[in-house]
Amino acid sequence: MLSEFDIIDRYFTRPSPGAVLGVGDDAALIKPARGMELAVSTDMLVAGQHFFADADPRKLGHKSLAVNLSDMAAMGARPRWAILSLALPEPTVRTDEKWLEAFADGFFGLAQAHQVDLVGGDTTRGPLAISVTIIGEVATGKALRRSGARPGDDIWISGQLGDAALALAHVQRRMVLEPGEITGCLSALHTPTARVELGQRLIGLADSAIDISDGLLADLGHILKSSKVAAVINISEINCSAAMKRCLPRALALECLLAGGDDYELCFTVPRSRRKKIEMLSLEQRIPLTRIGEIDEGEGLVVLDAAGNTITLETKGYDHFHV
Ligand SMILES: [Mg+2]
Repeated sequence: MLSEFDIIDRYFTRPSPGAVLGVGDDAALIKPARGMELAVSTDMLVAGQHFFADADPRKLGHKSLAVNLSDMAAMGARPRWAILSLALPEPTVRTDEKWLEAFADGFFGLAQAHQVDLVGGDTTRGPLAISVTIIGEVATGKALRRSGARPGDDIWISGQLGDAALALAHVQRRMVLEPGEITGCLSALHTPTARVELGQRLIGLADSAIDISDGLLADLGHILKSSKVAAVINISEINCSAAMKRCLPRALALECLLAGGDDYELCFTVPRSRRKKIEMLSLEQRIPLTRIGEIDEGEGLVVLDAAGNTITLETKGYDHFHV
């Protein structure tokens, strides 16, 4: 059986050019660039709670970092360093090494794409759990916050919502997707794309931002609460896949779209005067950015259907039980 040191040595020690000192001492040393402050966030994925215990380890490696990159994106921060802690079950013969190799591949593949250095972590035996802490940089005082939304702001989302939740519903046999729809939805669930560059480009444009991890209603709700404002959104404006369009307006599909979670798209608010700039940014970044509603004075979130009628939903957020 691999010892903790073997695991770190063999699978998780890579060059870390962006750190003063990386893996191998009692602590890593990192230094933000001049004029920058550090953005720090952590996320834990537990088998049976956030993913299936037999999930593809490569995809798990990708996703465990992607969900953290998404939090950096939501702050407009550039991710720089990561810390990874793993609890691994007692291995059956040889499965440990294969699992670790694939997991490390998925993790470092995404880390390298974003020039994120793994600078430390911990491993222990226990029920499978993955905890990643991410540290990024953002110009001092410029980070995007949840608390900046103002009445009159447009509400925007990036990409398409609901596919990850649709995939999960399909896997759980609560919904049947067509063969041609399954791959796209499964990749939204297992290998999400964090909007890292988009987040940084929103600095100076957006008044507020959040990443959609728990579902649009819950996460937009956080913006409204932090900003002490209200909002109206129209579901017919929410960008979604052909698979989702086919499943709507069934209640379960609507729930996936609005409250499914695991989207890792950005929801952000921008003064109306900057509409053109956001449209340009969408073209430049080649990411669909769509306007789904408006911030108002007051409190609460009103959801309208295509005909302008208020929709009442039973689910307002995700309960974090993803299996
Ligand atoms: Mg978040």
